[in-house]
Amino acid sequence: RKAELAAWVNKPSVSEDGHRVELAANIGNLEDVQKALDNGAEGIGLFRTEFLYMGRATLPTEEEQFQSYKYVLEKMEGKPVVIRTLDIGGDKELPYMDLPKESNPFLGQRALRLCLANEELFRTQLRALLRASRFGNLKIMFPMIAVREELLEAKRILEEEKQSLIQAGAEVSDSIEIGMMIEIPSAAISADLFAPHVDFFSIGTNDLIQYTMAADRMNETVSYLYQPSHPSILRLIRMVIEAARQEGKWVGMCGEMAGDPNAVPLLLGLGLHEFSMSAGTILQTREMIGNLSYAKWQSHAKHALTLGGQREVQSYAQEQLQGGK
Ligand code: PEP
Ligand code: MG
Repeated sequence: RKAELAAWVNKPSVSEDGHRVELAANIGNLEDVQKALDNGAEGIGLFRTEFLYMGRATLPTEEEQFQSYKYVLEKMEGKPVVIRTLDIGGDKELPYMDLPKESNPFLGQRALRLCLANEELFRTQLRALLRASRFGNLKIMFPMIAVREELLEAKRILEEEKQSLIQAGAEVSDSIEIGMMIEIPSAAISADLFAPHVDFFSIGTNDLIQYTMAADRMNETVSYLYQPSHPSILRLIRMVIEAARQEGKWVGMCGEMAGDPNAVPLLLGLGLHEFSMSAGTILQTREMIGNLSYAKWQSHAKHALTLGGQREVQSYAQEQLQGGK
């Protein structure tokens, strides 16, 4: 089986009827980059930068961050690398920052909200990213955006840092794509309002499902509500892809769902462009997509949106898989 999968390492990700997608890896530290390459990743679809900030006594300096980003970009040799700005808060704490206790941390000041409230912290990371940009194919992504003002403010700060670096004589790539995660229902529902202001979306289903179902993603007692293939989730995904298509932008997914064999055929059919997952599932996903007909799954996915619940969607998808492609 291992040898069988290894045959897919250097192949493109193409459906049986010739529809091309990109399979990328999620990484959380620098060692993961080699693993991504060994497993045939066509890019990094999500670099969770939290690890640079966690398990230490002080904030990482701009120089430390710059070295890490440069390392990843160089190692990927021009393949796309999506680096997400700091997503701290929620379940991830930083003891040295002395953040106020919140009664609902997942609904509180996490991720970009925290960065906009602590601008120096944010600007330091953005400068490190901008300085590293010339070493590869960098895409910067903002997490946890609920309303358009947050995106515009983050972009304004990024542009300000870019101009000041250039003025100081630094070299900054002029082709950095800017994207945002779609992981809050408001952003999914109003994706058309965001699409003109980004180069891409990446759907964070881990949070999108928890916020849509109002079911904590860590809480076992409500895990039965955590339903990736529920029509409500599929419809949100479709809305995001449709809004992006209207503006000629691409859509990725970096939540667990992107590597879930129960969901992959439907996601392909919905028109997802990039699937980002833990390195270990890339090859089996590439093999699966290679055996699927995009044309057929386009219509299967459309039908799935009309079904009564996750159970119906999953048995329908299973039937289609068994009945052919
Ligand atoms: C997500 O929410 O789906 C996601 C990829 O982000 P994280 O799991 O880091 O919250
Ligand atoms: Mg998330």
